Amino acid sequence: MLTKIIYVIIDSVAIVDIIIIINAMYGVGAAYGKWLKHTLVAAIVAISSNILIASSFNAFTAEIAYCAYFASIDWILYFLAGFCLLYTGHDKALRKVSIPVAVVMATDSLLIFINPLFKWHFTIYENTATPGVIFYQTAFNYLYYVHLAIDYTVLVMALLFLILKIIKSYDMYRMKYLIILSVLLLVIFMNLAYMTLSLVLDASVIFYAVAGTLIYFCTEIFVPRRLMNTSVGRAVDDMIEGLILFDISNNCIYANAFARSRFGVNIKTFDLSCEPAASVLASLKEEGRQFGETSYEKTSGSVIEHYSVRYTSLLDKRGRSIGSYFLIQDRTEEVFYLHEIEDARINADNANQAKSTFLANMSHEIRTPLNSVLGMNEMILRSTDDPLIREYAGSIKTSGETLLSLINDILDFSKIEAGRMETVETDYDPHHLLNDCYQFFEQPASAKDLYLHINCDKSIPRRLTGDMTHIRQILTNILSNAIKYTKEGGVTLKISARNIGTNRTELVAEISDTGAGIDEADIPYLFDAFKRINEKENAAIQGTGLGLAITHELVTMLHGSIYVDSTPGVGSTFTIMLPQGIADPAPAGELVLSKTYDEPSYKESFRAPDARILIVDDVPLNLKVVCALLRKTLVNIDTATSGDEAISVCAYRKYDVILLDHRMPKKDGIETFREISEKGLNYKTPVVMLTANALNGVEEEYRKLGFSGYLSKPIDVHALEEILIKLLPKEKVELTAIL
Ligand code: ADP
Repeated sequence: MLTKIIYVIIDSVAIVDIIIIINAMYGVGAAYGKWLKHTLVAAIVAISSNILIASSFNAFTAEIAYCAYFASIDWILYFLAGFCLLYTGHDKALRKVSIPVAVVMATDSLLIFINPLFKWHFTIYENTATPGVIFYQTAFNYLYYVHLAIDYTVLVMALLFLILKIIKSYDMYRMKYLIILSVLLLVIFMNLAYMTLSLVLDASVIFYAVAGTLIYFCTEIFVPRRLMNTSVGRAVDDMIEGLILFDISNNCIYANAFARSRFGVNIKTFDLSCEPAASVLASLKEEGRQFGETSYEKTSGSVIEHYSVRYTSLLDKRGRSIGSYFLIQDRTEEVFYLHEIEDARINADNANQAKSTFLANMSHEIRTPLNSVLGMNEMILRSTDDPLIREYAGSIKTSGETLLSLINDILDFSKIEAGRMETVETDYDPHHLLNDCYQFFEQPASAKDLYLHINCDKSIPRRLTGDMTHIRQILTNILSNAIKYTKEGGVTLKISARNIGTNRTELVAEISDTGAGIDEADIPYLFDAFKRINEKENAAIQGTGLGLAITHELVTMLHGSIYVDSTPGVGSTFTIMLPQGIADPAPAGELVLSKTYDEPSYKESFRAPDARILIVDDVPLNLKVVCALLRKTLVNIDTATSGDEAISVCAYRKYDVILLDHRMPKKDGIETFREISEKGLNYKTPVVMLTANALNGVEEEYRKLGFSGYLSKPIDVHALEEILIKLLPKEKVELTAIL
């Protein structure tokens, strides 16, 4: 009786063991996990049947239990073979044989289950060898040997695949197949022992549990861990960085191939006083750190090698220090390229500088003769009423002004590129800004028979704070494009503002036209420099492709944004949003636009026969132009062609205004002005700078230097008269026309 109980207990423990393993197997994602799980389920059936056999007290239950036992062996082997095929990577073979073998196994199991009727497999007899205990045993008939043959064929097939894999693979991979093969052979050996020794009960089923457990540990834990360790070891050795490991007592315990070859590290002799460890620790100490990253240089022959070395403490899972390591990265190539990039940057900077200087010089060189051309042309316009000559001179004026605006664009762009464009914030009246735009574009629009509508939200603040010069430039660029690219219809400029915080508002300008429009595909390139769209169609329209690029840069510089919405053939709308300060929040009210006064011919705006001014310019032709421009104002004019001459005339004569050219040989305008001021000559006389380098933002620069204003060359007669009215003593000025 006790023997039976022991059998039952051992078998039950085996079942529990298998159940635990099956549970663990739920985490196994690989396809072979499913086959291994099925194997273990079949093993549970086999062991349960064995328990039933051991605890049977009549022949019938024993026979049924034997049937279940023999059939379950079929399925154990079937699933085991499936596992072996998948585990050894023979998926294709498994797909081919799995169904036919399952059919054979199912037929065999069915035949076993009808054994109680025909006794083809075995007959049951009582074994009373142990006194007092009855064991039911089997005497085998012919079909049982067929069953055995089928089972062994499947088993041998599985073993063959394993052996094949063992032959083909190497190292750890060979080891993992060898372990599984040994486990399987052990089970077969136990089974054979049971049959040849005709043991009372088949104890080999217990080995199914042991086998399952071993296979599980082998495939899922032992082999992957070994593989990982070996692979990590190899990978670390192959790293293109150096690794030197120290234990807690600062004994060197590992150095990878990089560290060994570059720094000659030998773990037996290497310690913290050897290079590179010593220098790295010293420089970390200097920076007040124990661990961290630092750079390290080593001379190898004529080459200086640059490294970056990180020294880190090695911690265990609970955060306790278990050692430290140096991680060394070779940065020689990087440093080399950085030097190259730096050299290239310096060269590019120099080239850019040369370009900027060239552009500034070129601008000066072009502006100087242009100054004379436009000035003299103005004289022609003033001195004749002959319509043909006025038409010719008018064309010279238009072309000259276009040329001037092109030079301005190129200069602005080069200044933006060089990062030298500055913003100057002032308080301004938005209505004033819109009036400027209207006056500037009303004439060109009506010359093309286009309407120009300017609408302004009444509630917009009366005075804003912002960079009005650049905002005007932005609006001017977009409006001039709108008029340029529109053949019929017209252009509308809408201005509104919405508050975005205390004393902050966002100025929204919408410029819509009924022009050619822009293809959607072209919009991404619209703001690229030197990019013109529809070049063929627009060939007759003058442009450099710089206007929108400059506009975009200016909007970005002012922290705003610009969007385009366009439909080809219908028109385009450019929307610009610019954050502005509020200087006076009262609503600006209705916008009143004043139309440009279309002068048929020139008329001086003032006369000042008692005023005396000094004009200084090294080019006599320029002096002649200014004198001619001011002739009708009756102002008394003295001229000087150099800084020194100006200083000497200032010594004995007091002027009401001095116009001083910026660029002059020897003493330039700024030096001359400084000397006049230092010597206390012409105390408090306003000095106006004449400049050919009319870049945006220069006005503020000149004001900072003490100038009262500036005039850009070629000198515009209106601007010249306007500034003189402002600066000449009021009592000496007699206004003759409204400016
Ligand atoms: P451009 O000097 O050629 O006018 P821009 O940078 O000002 O240079 O404009 C770039 C291109 O964008 C122009 O060549 C033109 O094809 C297109 N473009 C700009 N504004 C408009 C508009 N309002 N309607 C149609 N096309 C426009």
